Amino acid sequence: METFVTIERALEIARQTLSITTSESVTLSQSHDRILNQDLASKVDDPPFDNSAMDGWAVRSQDRDRVEISTTAAGSPSSEIAEGEAIRIMTGAPMPEGADAIVRIEDGLNGKAHTNFIRRQGENLTKGNVALRAGQVMTPAAISLAATMGYATIPVRTKPRVAVISTGDELVTPGDDLADGSIYESNSYGLCALLEKIGCTPIHKDVVVDSLDALRTTLDSLDCDVILTSGGVSMGEFDYVRKLMEEEGEIHFWKVAMRPGGPPLFGTWKGTPLFGLPGNPVSSHLVFTMIVAPWLAPEHPLGNTVQVRLKDPVKGAPGKVCLRRIQISSEGDHLVATTHTHQGSGNIHSMVAHNGVTLLPPDMSANAGDIIDALWLL
Ligand code: AMP
Ligand code: MG
Repeated sequence: METFVTIERALEIARQTLSITTSESVTLSQSHDRILNQDLASKVDDPPFDNSAMDGWAVRSQDRDRVEISTTAAGSPSSEIAEGEAIRIMTGAPMPEGADAIVRIEDGLNGKAHTNFIRRQGENLTKGNVALRAGQVMTPAAISLAATMGYATIPVRTKPRVAVISTGDELVTPGDDLADGSIYESNSYGLCALLEKIGCTPIHKDVVVDSLDALRTTLDSLDCDVILTSGGVSMGEFDYVRKLMEEEGEIHFWKVAMRPGGPPLFGTWKGTPLFGLPGNPVSSHLVFTMIVAPWLAPEHPLGNTVQVRLKDPVKGAPGKVCLRRIQISSEGDHLVATTHTHQGSGNIHSMVAHNGVTLLPPDMSANAGDIIDALWLL
């Protein structure tokens, strides 16, 4: 087991365990946001035939006096013209044999003939071109491209099924009454939403009380690819996730040099990878963002690294990367960042009131006016 590792090292260690490599076939309608698992070569030329880019007439550019002989629309079979003839043509209709130019409808039949208003066969893609590669996120445009290339179904990576378990005697389900000393359980809801956002299937489990037996029973009952727990991984007397993993599981790392989010733990429970996130709500969100998401779904980043000019000073952390919540916006030709709420790791409001976090290197604070790296959250 390694302790107090950097974020990069934590990711490296986690990557030695797992990766789900199975694939399944889905229809294009089911493919949104899935990860393509194989390169796809186009089955056809795009466009499959020369066609008009405009509504107008298909003509021979050298002709002067033209006579319209017929009309062709998108979906019509291709036709033919001879000297002096023109065919009324709609956008997307095949170019008639013999025609080499298009006159726009607004220019009239004897208007200027344009040879560049023809979309040539294969000008976008030729048959066999690999335009979608394994690892591609199936965005709306990628889905349209797969359809253009002739695919009805595509192979995608199987979604990891991830169990989410909150631990803590103090946790009460939202909607129930809060007893003395209790708080509403919030992490599991946010974590399940984060999992959906990165293309995993969350399995939302009930809260587990702080007891080795209860935790063991729940962990043993799971049917999933990955286990995410929240709470119970720090130095406290009732931090039973850490205790159970120490005694009966296998820990690969514990503690990461980041603030908030110091005490996460990673290992395996009877062969299943287990990520023990800290209980503080901001910590669990940010450990997920910085380590769990890049591990489970590197194709779905939760933020973009940018440089921002600070408008408020931010305090760093000794020996740890410091992730202060900041609001990033553009001002003139650069990005600026401001801070608005209490920065405590228990304050989930700070993750809603801001749209990014600082990536302050260990032992470094920054002043208003300084330019620093930050993560602009998506
Ligand atoms: P722990 O990591 O278990 O020591 O918890 C650290 C802090 O996070 C404590 O104040 C807990 O009450 C709080 N906490 C733990 N789990 C959750 C949760 N699922 N939802 C909201 N707060 C939590
Ligand atoms: Mg706890």
